[in-house]
Amino acid sequence: MYQVIHLSAECFPVAKVGGLGDVAGALPKYLNQAGVPSCLVMPRYNLKWNAAHVSHSVFEGVCSTEHFNIPFHIVKAAQDTLGFDLYMVDIPGILFRDQVYGYDDDAFRFIFFQQAVLHWLCSWEQKPSVLHAHDHHCGYAAFMAAHCYDFHPLRNIKTVFTIHNGLYTAPVPHDYARFFPHFPREVGGLLEWDNRIDPLATAIKCSQKVTTVSQGYLQELQQQQSSYSWLYQEYAYKSFGILNGIDTQVWDPNTDAYLTHKLSEQNWLGFKQKNKEEICKRFRFDPNLPLCVFIGRLTGEKGGDLIAPSVGEFVHQTKGMNFFLLGSGSPNLEDALRHISGVFPENVANYIGYNETLAHEMYAAADFLIMPSFVEPCGLNQMYALRYGTIPIVRSVGGLKDSVKDFGDFEGYGIRFDQGTVQDILYSLYRAKDLYYSSYTFNHVRALGIKLDFSWETAVKKYISLYYQ
Ligand code: ADP
Repeated sequence: MYQVIHLSAECFPVAKVGGLGDVAGALPKYLNQAGVPSCLVMPRYNLKWNAAHVSHSVFEGVCSTEHFNIPFHIVKAAQDTLGFDLYMVDIPGILFRDQVYGYDDDAFRFIFFQQAVLHWLCSWEQKPSVLHAHDHHCGYAAFMAAHCYDFHPLRNIKTVFTIHNGLYTAPVPHDYARFFPHFPREVGGLLEWDNRIDPLATAIKCSQKVTTVSQGYLQELQQQQSSYSWLYQEYAYKSFGILNGIDTQVWDPNTDAYLTHKLSEQNWLGFKQKNKEEICKRFRFDPNLPLCVFIGRLTGEKGGDLIAPSVGEFVHQTKGMNFFLLGSGSPNLEDALRHISGVFPENVANYIGYNETLAHEMYAAADFLIMPSFVEPCGLNQMYALRYGTIPIVRSVGGLKDSVKDFGDFEGYGIRFDQGTVQDILYSLYRAKDLYYSSYTFNHVRALGIKLDFSWETAVKKYISLYYQ
């Protein structure tokens, strides 16, 4: 039976919106490989993966509230291709929708997702030792398991909660308590934060262990001024930062199915050159110039508002670098990317939207990847970039600080800057350009990055030790 059950709203390749999907799609697999039987349960969405893959019902149940009942099924994916057993909660109309998030009733949807999982777990003869919930969508599970009468058989399960991004939570008014199964009145305060019911705060209070996806981010959460800082400080004794790994089987330049030109016989120069030429041909860029890419959500948190002004100014000053920008998010930031691509078509191109294939091609083709994030809990892009021979240019925050070393330091393999300003980014781009043209140092720095090991093995050992605690 399973020792660890993961609860997550996303899981690659079934449903991915960002890094949470990558982590949820890899961690159970690497736990299994390390000898800790693990599975994952997520909502069943109306997405491509589900249309193409068969799943079978393994449990039928009902979530009850005072005024209505919600029937649900737990389905299990038939094909065993993920490296772990995948279960999904099927609630037509509520969970089975065309997007993972973005609906007005998201809070309501995920309350019932968690309830359904716990009803199902109650029916297991042998309960898992650990329930590992990811991000605020699964933030009530620890509370419900410990305190709701309906879930009494689960009260001894240990709970771990991982914060992939502490900026996101979904507080709701007090009357949402009516959607929870009954619990003793005196524990109601555990659900509360700032006069609302808050899943992030509930999870931090009620889980036995809390983790963030890097040590640097944990420190920032504890030190920053926010309405949650007291919580992070108060529960520091049970909080740990564990840097994410990357799935080196999915992200493998030798076998990456998204790439036309794969790495062969460790010929890195050939690999980079062919992939770069391919992208440059598509956008009519000069392949002799350095190519810098951005891949990510266009939000303030990712420094999305700095991309257009910095790239625009840099290209205005020197036409010596090309930029390809992939992302989607805030409409005015999307417009800003379109605008600079229109003004500087020889040097700047964009793709507005989400495109997994293009992302892989870009990591393989680029010389540099820029991440001017204001907040970066871990960041996966810099690790994918390094694995594909692309030098990351990052702001020194959170997980970027923990995973990227400036090439000016001993054995450094990236470029780091401190301030989230156009000036600091311009300075870093000039450093990148100079580095590119000193080809011996450039190849040396790139080779140092390629050699790094960001595989899940290290992180998995830390999670296992936490589970044993
Ligand atoms: P986030 O905060 O968005 O979760 P991470 O760095 O943890 O950031 O993970 C981002 C993941 O999403 C990476 O796998 C990255 O390649 C991918 N990604 C982000 N935006 C896009 C996009 N527009 N198209 C394709 N992949 C994207």
